[in-house]
Amino acid sequence: MQRGEQLYSGKAKSVYESDQDDALILHFRNDTSAFDGERIEQLDRKGMVNNKFNAYVMEHLEREGIPTHFLELLSDDETLVRRLDMFPIECVVRNIATGSICKRLGVEDGVDLSQPTFEFFLKNDELHDPMINEYHIKSFNWADDEAVEVMKVQTFKVNDILSKLFADAGMILVDFKLEFGRQGANIFLGDEFTPDGCRIWDAETREKLDKDRFRKGLGGVVEAYEQVAQRIGLDI
Ligand code: ADP
Ligand code: UDP
Repeated sequence: MQRGEQLYSGKAKSVYESDQDDALILHFRNDTSAFDGERIEQLDRKGMVNNKFNAYVMEHLEREGIPTHFLELLSDDETLVRRLDMFPIECVVRNIATGSICKRLGVEDGVDLSQPTFEFFLKNDELHDPMINEYHIKSFNWADDEAVEVMKVQTFKVNDILSKLFADAGMILVDFKLEFGRQGANIFLGDEFTPDGCRIWDAETREKLDKDRFRKGLGGVVEAYEQVAQRIGLDI
């Protein structure tokens, strides 16, 4: 399958037409950004690692009953996906408080939450992805009631499925971000699930194995992503 016209180039992926009207090609690039695109670097092999990581997780989620946009791996750094109308919304679930929630609420970093918590953010880099609630989503018609419900229910299900996947491999799924979109009457999980969009800690040492290595300048970013992949059974 050949890439058609480029429809969009984001911070880490580019989106192309495919030779099917209802499918797109996602190209996972090596670009790695932090702080709403203020810092961008090329990390060798990251596009390939994330493409394969994402495919592995999306296929696992499909088997566990989550409808995803994943169709097939096309190459080392390209995947064929269902063409979705994306909701301009990020869905975040947290099991441990770290990152923006600590700054926002003044809570201690690293504290276990007594139950997973859920947050919506508006996808808007210029506004630094502000936190929004269900009323904002419905009032501005960013998504309807049904979609809001599906996004919440599916994100919590993904948390259960993937917390187990990582726990079985000696890791903690700390938090993560998902994006959803619509194709006709159906809502699918879109975008990606990779260590770029989640936090994963070693369960024993709490060593960071995700994009916080890049944000905090810890080094070994792609090596950590590969380590996580190997531990959950994916040989890249
Ligand atoms: P960003 O847009 O935040 O810079 P990326 O670099 O990851 O992020 O760009 C990928 C873009 O593709 C995102 O805007 C995402 O919403 C969009 N996207 C992901 N999956 C699909 C899909 N199945 N159909 C249409 N658009 C998608
Ligand atoms: N996240 C993401 N994209 C965003 C914002 C957050 O993938 O635009 C992920 C992030 O990697 C983390 C989770 O969502 O796993 C929660 O992020 P947080 O709100 O703590 O923001 P951050 O500290 O990354 O600014």
